[in-house]
Amino acid sequence: LFITLEGADGAGKTTQGALLAQAFRALQYPVLETREPGGTPVGEAARRVLLDPSLTGMAPMAEVFLYAAARAQLIREVILPALAAGTVVICDRFTDSTLAYQGYGRGLDMDRLQSINHWATEGLAPDLTLLLDIDSDEGLSRARRKGADRMEMETAAFHQKVRHGFLELAAKETSRIRVIPAGRDIFEVHRQVINAVREKVPE
Ligand code: C5P
Ligand code: MG
Repeated sequence: LFITLEGADGAGKTTQGALLAQAFRALQYPVLETREPGGTPVGEAARRVLLDPSLTGMAPMAEVFLYAAARAQLIREVILPALAAGTVVICDRFTDSTLAYQGYGRGLDMDRLQSINHWATEGLAPDLTLLLDIDSDEGLSRARRKGADRMEMETAAFHQKVRHGFLELAAKETSRIRVIPAGRDIFEVHRQVINAVREKVPE
């Protein structure tokens, strides 16, 4: 079972991923939590480059390939082996982030991004994607409390395009992507996450 968490910066993906992993563990499932970009030494190195606020001149295509590089490494080194061993994999961000940030946000060609995603993931798609939807301003102000990374320094208009992009992706793939309003209490959001997972995986 492969579950991804998506959504804007500050939506609470990391928190909800951890709570979901706990819930699986309580039911004795083997679980692996990972994140993107990151999750492997190569991916974490790409992450440091991607999020470095001093690298202001990064070309959008360079950004795409660095995210894709981190993803290709994560798929090979972590996700495919874990799934093969029967582990539940919960990943904080995945391919939809590329479509939302580099597609809707930066305006790059969607078909190309789809094929880069397909290549990097070796065709693997999540069984379920939880889209934590939050108002862009609220999300950004939550995220920036930890200090803004390179992407979080983007304009409010950029982040609104990203949010809208995620919602549009969800509308196109209703069986895979479940939208969960994330502006409310952590435990209420968790309850909705659990409901969405139960619907997908009855037992
Ligand atoms: O840990 P977090 O998800 O916040 O870090 C990833 C960062 O990379 C976020 O700021 C997000 O905006 C950005 N990102 C992106 N394009 C992707 C994936 C992540 O711009 N494809
Ligand atoms: Mg962030």
